[in-house]
Amino acid sequence: MIFNIEVNNKIIKAKRGDSILETLRRNGISVPTLCYMEGFTPTGACRMCVVEIEGKNELVPSCSHPVEEWMKIHTHSPRVINARRTIVELLLSSHPDDCLYCIRNKNCELQNLAEELGIRERRLPVVKKTVKKDPSSVSIVRDTDKCILCGRCVRVCKELIGISTLDFIGKGMKTIVAPTFNNRLNVSNCINCGQCLMVCPTGALHERDNISQVQEALQNPEKYVTVQISPTVSVSLAEEFNIRTGKEMDGILVATLRRMGFDKVFKTAFAADIMLLQMVDELADRLANNERLPMFSSDCPAFVKFMEEYHPDLLPHLSVCKSPQQIMGSLIKHHFAREQKVKAEKIFSVSLEPCTAKKFEAHREEFTTKGISDVDVVLTTREIARMIKLYGLDIQQSAPEMADMPFTIRSSAAKITGTGGGIVEALYRSLYYKLTGKSLVNFKIASLRNNKNIKEFTTKIGKYKLGFAAVNGLGNLHELIKQIKAGRNDLQFIEVMACPGSCVNGGGQPIGHSREVVKARTKTLYDIDEKESIKVSYRNLSVTELFGKYSGKEKDSFFEKFTTTYQKREVPL
Ligand code: SF4
Repeated sequence: MIFNIEVNNKIIKAKRGDSILETLRRNGISVPTLCYMEGFTPTGACRMCVVEIEGKNELVPSCSHPVEEWMKIHTHSPRVINARRTIVELLLSSHPDDCLYCIRNKNCELQNLAEELGIRERRLPVVKKTVKKDPSSVSIVRDTDKCILCGRCVRVCKELIGISTLDFIGKGMKTIVAPTFNNRLNVSNCINCGQCLMVCPTGALHERDNISQVQEALQNPEKYVTVQISPTVSVSLAEEFNIRTGKEMDGILVATLRRMGFDKVFKTAFAADIMLLQMVDELADRLANNERLPMFSSDCPAFVKFMEEYHPDLLPHLSVCKSPQQIMGSLIKHHFAREQKVKAEKIFSVSLEPCTAKKFEAHREEFTTKGISDVDVVLTTREIARMIKLYGLDIQQSAPEMADMPFTIRSSAAKITGTGGGIVEALYRSLYYKLTGKSLVNFKIASLRNNKNIKEFTTKIGKYKLGFAAVNGLGNLHELIKQIKAGRNDLQFIEVMACPGSCVNGGGQPIGHSREVVKARTKTLYDIDEKESIKVSYRNLSVTELFGKYSGKEKDSFFEKFTTTYQKREVPL
């Protein structure tokens, strides 16, 4: 039901069942928020969004108060502004004054609010916190001093990811947000997806910064520095430079990385084609033997850690394929090093990813041979953007360049693996060929190209009736796993990506983006798929050529480098 209300002396339309905040936003009236997140249950905890309602003594939080017919609302009266200013002043009284050194400087919601509300001096006494930083995780740093207890990370970890690593601990002034038993992150059940830090309004949660390690390697004449670019980094980097959202920056990024001094620039999507072909072989074998079905994708390290912690009984169902990052890392340190006659220990291998969990993945002991890691450092999209700025490079002045052979050609199937449902779609194209010997005519699967968190697709290939599912946002997986454990057997392959919307929306991507931005990144990837001619992994002739270089025993050990193992992990609960 639609009715009128009065806001700041103007009549606007409101809808029964909406909150005041939703009504205001729909009518283009801006009210500041801190704890509020669209799509999550509002708590009204921070009270930043308070408004004045005529006839009510108390100010009310607009995020959790329903709009009603008789209302006359004031969103920016002196009383409301005073209340908001006091809230920010209270938060600042216990917040460190180190904005200039903070990773979120100029991109901090608390800083922005202090600026918007014209706070120019400290009126309230300083309340010193004594909580230490937690730098234990290789992916995420927790700086509790900067936490304003908005609870966004707690809700994302619980409602979106479904594992509740972070929660409120303690009471009153001693309340903090921390993992269970106030453990350090590296010994918690954290899966490193980084979705918590994407919603953190301050610098209380942020990625571990590895820029200085890469700088050192670039300055070291003894080091041969390679870099691989993940497919979704190039469609989000533009946002960090105020260039059109969703613009494909692939060639420009390659040129910029060369200007920074990287010896070779490769594309991770080349390795994604290898992963897809390996997964297709593995799935075809499992179908033939009717074993370990459904098969789960294994290229999201956050999902892999989740399975190791919570469902070790299902680990045999995970594909044994390494992720594209690790396949490429292994190719660089073994195949490429041998071909170029460069010692593997001289190579410093950098990976650019949309993901904080990939930092953890690179550190897994399975990916180190005789003390040599396949990937030395992982930088997120945000970090490579910071590094480009640090080097004073004007990215807009770079003319696009091709990446380096032999790891530059890719199919468009590999490029869409970073979208929700993209792995199923890409894998299906090659699976169809594997099982029938024929090429598909229609490559696009409409039921996989939408914003749903769980997408399913059924088809018949030869004698097999096949069910595929794509789950994006780990919190959506729990019910499906219950069904599988209870005997559901109509699914043969399941893509699971921890982040909602998959890697285009990963925890290493630019902060502060909207759903529209994620849609724009996804659209760019689909457009690339639409217009390019190599749409399937088995048509990547560079991969075919690479495979053809190995035979006999060498071939076995070459292909073994694309597979991995998993381990059961204890979870402190
Ligand atoms: Fe990383 Fe992608 Fe998994 Fe998110 S969905 S944790 S970005 S691999």
